[in-house]
Amino acid sequence: MGIVVQKYGGSSVADAASVKRVAQRIVNTKRLGHQVVVVVSAMGDTTDDLIDLANEVSPLPPARELDMLLTAGERISMAVLAMAIQNLGHEARSFTGSQAGVITDAAHGKAKIIDVTPGRIQDALGEDAIAIVAGFQGVSQTTKDITTLGRGGSDTTAVALAVALEADVCEIYSDVDGIFTADPRIEPRARKVSRISYEETLEMAAQGAKILHLRCVEYARRYDMPIHVRSSFSEKEGTWVVKAEDVVQEDSMEAAIITGVAHDRSQAKLTVVGVPDKPGEAAALFRAVADAQINIDMIVQNVSAAATNLTDISFTLPAGEGQTAVKELSRLQETIGFESIQYDDSVGKVSIVGAGMSSSPGISARFFEALSDAGVNIEMISTSEIRVSVVVAEAQINEAVNAAHAAFDLGSDEIEAVVYGGTGR
Ligand code: ASP
Ligand code: MG
Repeated sequence: MGIVVQKYGGSSVADAASVKRVAQRIVNTKRLGHQVVVVVSAMGDTTDDLIDLANEVSPLPPARELDMLLTAGERISMAVLAMAIQNLGHEARSFTGSQAGVITDAAHGKAKIIDVTPGRIQDALGEDAIAIVAGFQGVSQTTKDITTLGRGGSDTTAVALAVALEADVCEIYSDVDGIFTADPRIEPRARKVSRISYEETLEMAAQGAKILHLRCVEYARRYDMPIHVRSSFSEKEGTWVVKAEDVVQEDSMEAAIITGVAHDRSQAKLTVVGVPDKPGEAAALFRAVADAQINIDMIVQNVSAAATNLTDISFTLPAGEGQTAVKELSRLQETIGFESIQYDDSVGKVSIVGAGMSSSPGISARFFEALSDAGVNIEMISTSEIRVSVVVAEAQINEAVNAAHAAFDLGSDEIEAVVYGGTGR
């Protein structure tokens, strides 16, 4: 049998009892005859606690030292997990990201993996040991400094290792049973999806569904590495993230059109009011936003209500970047001559995602009718080939999710979703 990579999130290794439970699970996989490589996140909320600590000693912790500090979280879990496994009578060896051959660029806090050379992992497997690897970290090829991959980055470590080791599957364990048709905390009738394509998962993740690290899905898609998202608290089969051709349509055609509903509360809307309608003005506005490294999403340009020959330009952005965007754009007020800037962070985004929509007409109409019946006003709209997103008032996000979920018959008859852990991933 082949190599299995298993990644356990923070909630699965939150305390000593959880670590022992996970150790037993790993040993069971090994006993089935697999070679097992495990990637771990920091225990529970350790990463958040370490960030708080850093901020207590320094208002602006140096990026190199912050990375060094944060990687300690994963080192703790890898060592205690190896101990727990050895206590069960199996050989286990822990490795830092650097020792495991995770080579990155030098961008502290958001490093990208550029190569994986897992020689020591292969040696350990060859000697019949279980290899435990600290997630979320690597070493820079140029500076040789320790780097981190960004919050939630252990998922990406796991997929990258799985690809480099030519594993059969990358199993990602958290405290939910898989990917659901909507967030079970909002939609109690959410159903577990048994198979979903990389593309749909990317859209769901990008639109706010907190399922997998975006980059991990991109990585898996590029190398066609199947991901099995499942819970470490149950033995249930989870959700398989696979290539589109391998997604079998189990239910009626109807069910296949829309795969899920995602939502995102972290968005804000910025409107530049009364922009002169001539070439170059939009370019200047968005250049300023881009130079401030702000990722924008939806853009709408309207004829201004204020006067003729003026337009209003609205776009959405992460609420955390709002202040910077307003500041940067205000500096252009005089040169461009627009009237004012309006900023609203009490908005959110609700999206329906499904590969089937590209070939079935009427999906947007049905979505918008459902929102209208629920009394939800649409502020902005954007689409991709397999997604329709709307911006709505933050207070109406739950109603919008419920309405969309019902309109596309996504609900199951019984309550399926169980959230077991509750802290971290
Ligand atoms: N421990 C890191 C975090 O909390 C990485 C991870 O969990 O994947 O972001
Ligand atoms: Mg975490």
